[in-house]
Amino acid sequence: MASVTLTGVHKKYPDGFHAVRGVDLEIADGELVVLVGPSGCGKSTTLRMIAGLEEVSAGEIRIGDRLVNEVEPGDRDIAMVFQNYALYPHMTVRQNMAFGLKMRRTPKPQIAERVATAAAMLGIEALLDRRPRELSGGQRQRVALGRAIVRDPAAFLFDEPLSNLDAKLRGETRTEIAALHHRLDATMIYVTHDQVEAMTLGQRLVLMNHGIVQQVGPPMEVYTRPANRFVATFVGSPAMNLVEGRIERGRFHAPQIGAGWDVGAREEGPAVLGVRPEDLMPAGGSAPVFATGQLTVVERLGHETLAHYRLGSTDTVCIARLPADGGGPPPETAPLTIRPAGLHLFAGDAAAVRL
Ligand code: ATP
Repeated sequence: MASVTLTGVHKKYPDGFHAVRGVDLEIADGELVVLVGPSGCGKSTTLRMIAGLEEVSAGEIRIGDRLVNEVEPGDRDIAMVFQNYALYPHMTVRQNMAFGLKMRRTPKPQIAERVATAAAMLGIEALLDRRPRELSGGQRQRVALGRAIVRDPAAFLFDEPLSNLDAKLRGETRTEIAALHHRLDATMIYVTHDQVEAMTLGQRLVLMNHGIVQQVGPPMEVYTRPANRFVATFVGSPAMNLVEGRIERGRFHAPQIGAGWDVGAREEGPAVLGVRPEDLMPAGGSAPVFATGQLTVVERLGHETLAHYRLGSTDTVCIARLPADGGGPPPETAPLTIRPAGLHLFAGDAAAVRL
C-alpha cells in the first residue's frame, strides 16, 4: 500500500473549462478518504487524474514517493472500481478477476489462490463460472471489487461504485466496503455525491465545490464545525437551517427573528446564521428565544419527527428535529430556542465563525 499526494493539481479541459483548481491533498498509507460534492464539482476528474485516465494540467501527483504525472494508468499500481462495473462480458467471473494478474504474467497457481481468497472474502465462490449477464447488479459490483482486490494494488480508487444499486443493496455494499478497508488496511479513495455514504465510509472527507476543496476533515468534525456555508448545507439531512441577516454592534439582525441575537464582538456586515435541526427546540426551557415559529408541516419518520416552523410573519421556514416520543404533537405556535453549542455564524460565503 502507499500514500497518495496531490500538490497544486489543476485540470483544464481542452475546451478551456477549469474543472479542478489547485487541489492539495495528502492521503496517508492505509487511509480511506472520500471525495464528496455536488455533480460537476470536479471529484471524478480528480480521481481520474490520480488513476492516470486524465492528464494533469498543472501540479504533481505522487503515489508513495513516485511522481506519476507521466506514468501510464497500467503502470501506476492502482485498481479502480467504477459505477458501471466495467466487467468483460464474454469472460466468466473467474476470468474477469484473474485478467489483470494474467496480463502481468503472475504464475497460474498464485492467480488461482488470490482469486479464491478474494472470492471467499466477498462470498462469491458460487458465482465463479458465471458470466456477468448471469449476475445481479450487486453481484457484478462484488466481482468488480474482487477484481480490484486480487491485484493487491498500492491504492484502490472508487468512482461512485454504488450508484447503480437499489437502496438496500447500496447500504449493504457500503458496509462491505468499510469491512474490506478494515480487513485489507488499504489506501482507498472513494468518490460520491452522497453525503450519507461519505459520512459513514470516510475516515476523512474532502468536500469539493466548483473544483476547489472546501474542507478536509473527519466526518464529525465536518458536521459539527463546517468551514463555510457550502459545507454546512451539503452535509446533514435535513440541511442546516439558515437565516440571512446582518451583524451590527454585536447583534445579529434579521427580519425573521425579531429583536436580534447576541453574537458578541464580530465584524459588522452581512452574515448568515445557521442552526442544525436537532439544535432547534420548540418551547425548550430557559434558553433565550430565537424566534417565534408557526407550525406548518409535521413529518413523522418513525424514529423521529420533523416539525417545520415558519419564522414570525416571514416566509423563512426552519426545521426542528424532535424525538418521535416527544410527548404529544409539536406545539402550533412555539418560542424557538437554540441549544448552546448549536449556533453557527457565517460571514457572507467565507469562512465560518464559531460562537
Ligand atoms: P458527477 O458526480 O456529475 O460526475 P463530478 O463532481 O464528478 O460530477 P466531474 O466529472 O469531475 O464532476 O466534472 C467536473 C466538471 O468538468 C463538470 O462541469 C464537467 O462538465 C466538466 N468536464 C468533465 N469532463 C470534461 C471534458 N472531457 N471536457 C470538458 N469538460 C469536462
